[in-house]
Amino acid sequence: MSTSLKTDLFINGQWVKGAGSLPVLNPSTNSLIADISTADEAQCDAAVKAAHDAFPSWSKTASRVRSEILRKAFELMIAEADGIARVISMENGKTFTDAKGEVIYAAEFFRWFAEEAVRTPGDFRAAPSGDKRILVTHQPIGVSLLITPWNFPAAMATRKIGPALAAGCTVILKAASETPLTALWIIDILQRAGVPAGVVNFVMPEKTGAMVSRMMHDPRVRNVSFTGSTEVGRILLKESADLVLRTSLELGGNAPFVIFDDADIDEAVKGAMIAKMRNGGAACTAANRFIVAENVAAEFIEKFKSAMASLKMSDGLAEGAQLGASVSRKERDKIAQLVDQAVTAGASLHLGGVIPEGEGAFYPATVLSVAADNPILAQEVFGPVAPIVTFGSDEEAIALANATEYGLIAYVYSGDLKRAIRVSEAIEAGMVAINRGVISDPAAPFGGVKQSGLGREGGFAGIHEFLETKYIGVEI
Ligand code: NAP
Repeated sequence: MSTSLKTDLFINGQWVKGAGSLPVLNPSTNSLIADISTADEAQCDAAVKAAHDAFPSWSKTASRVRSEILRKAFELMIAEADGIARVISMENGKTFTDAKGEVIYAAEFFRWFAEEAVRTPGDFRAAPSGDKRILVTHQPIGVSLLITPWNFPAAMATRKIGPALAAGCTVILKAASETPLTALWIIDILQRAGVPAGVVNFVMPEKTGAMVSRMMHDPRVRNVSFTGSTEVGRILLKESADLVLRTSLELGGNAPFVIFDDADIDEAVKGAMIAKMRNGGAACTAANRFIVAENVAAEFIEKFKSAMASLKMSDGLAEGAQLGASVSRKERDKIAQLVDQAVTAGASLHLGGVIPEGEGAFYPATVLSVAADNPILAQEVFGPVAPIVTFGSDEEAIALANATEYGLIAYVYSGDLKRAIRVSEAIEAGMVAINRGVISDPAAPFGGVKQSGLGREGGFAGIHEFLETKYIGVEI
């Protein structure tokens, strides 16, 4: 078990002191956890070179060997889950319970892709014209730049590293500035699991935008996989056009949570608490708009408000914590601003809405009723805030659900499966949860439509984000 936090860069199998440093704060207390190394241009270039040099050998390493390294990394993560969860809670602010859940989910990507590494499909068949054989195989793309956000610092890293290594790609990971310590623990695990030098590298560029752009313009980099905001995703999509990089984007969400009048309201409240409050609401999958049939709205609001009011808000590591801090005071203030704007625009506040006193970046569980044109419905809130809007007909519910540029996930609660499936098919989203508050699963394809992203992570699709399809025509 690793006993000390890693704080340096990891380049070509070595822990390297950075040219500069960056403080990592605990948002529950606003105190310093550690200073971590940041990379200058030469160190970013060295990471690209290391990944490039390691690629020929790693891509030819037997998939069984790659699989077993990932399996070992899964086992180490599970064995060290409590320690990793404590670090997540400290640097991200989420509760230990949420953090531990994240570590298990994150480790599962290593296990799933250990299993997928040895099952890459191929195809060999006769051409319909009869003149040749069509042989289709899949090859690793090459050096992949992986960029992750702060909200799931473990799972967003393993969801990319797992398939990349399984496919035979080498990687450079750049974590979010707020939460690098979790990623560094995972890098350390990968080294201990037997990943050869240069296959996995870790940098925290001292200037994020400029240095990520520099790496994306290095012809040795062939693929970029990003999870984060739609705003930054758009920038990276434009950047990737210059060298026509393969690009996977997992971006923002604005999930509708639709409750029909034939739903079991107690079950809907249970699901709503998970969909809204897992990770303190800081999830791309978080229910962001509650769209509730008008004849059951009063019952739902009453029961949901009482469940939200019962949550214990405190330092994520405190005994019994159910709602931790936001990742920073800046993020917390953004949440507060969105709620204030909503109230100014006519929302009625049922619960919360006031920043508590103290140093920590806390924001309370908040419930609001809003009209369909309230500006909060157009924004990703990323906090413990639940705006509720009502509807009359199914068509109105679908129109409300689709009234956003995002399309990541939607939740549908109904006692009538036919109705739920019809509505799920009509909602513009990459994923729909029926009568469930959570559907993320390493074995399922995760991803969005519209401005929520491009590509899929996890499931059978995940490894293909790191593979090129090659067709070989064979004369017979
Ligand atoms: P963010 O501000 O977009 O940052 C994400 C990552 O991009 C960080 O590592 C950040 O580095 C980096 N970055 C920022 N500006 C950049 C630039 N100009 N060029 C290159 N990289 C840049 O997002 P966040 O606030 O960390 O995360 C929250 C967002 O992620 C939400 O919108 C959420 O919905 C989305 N998300 C989506 C999924 C999904 O699967 N669809 C999953 C989780 C989160 P620095 O920290 O150094 O700025």
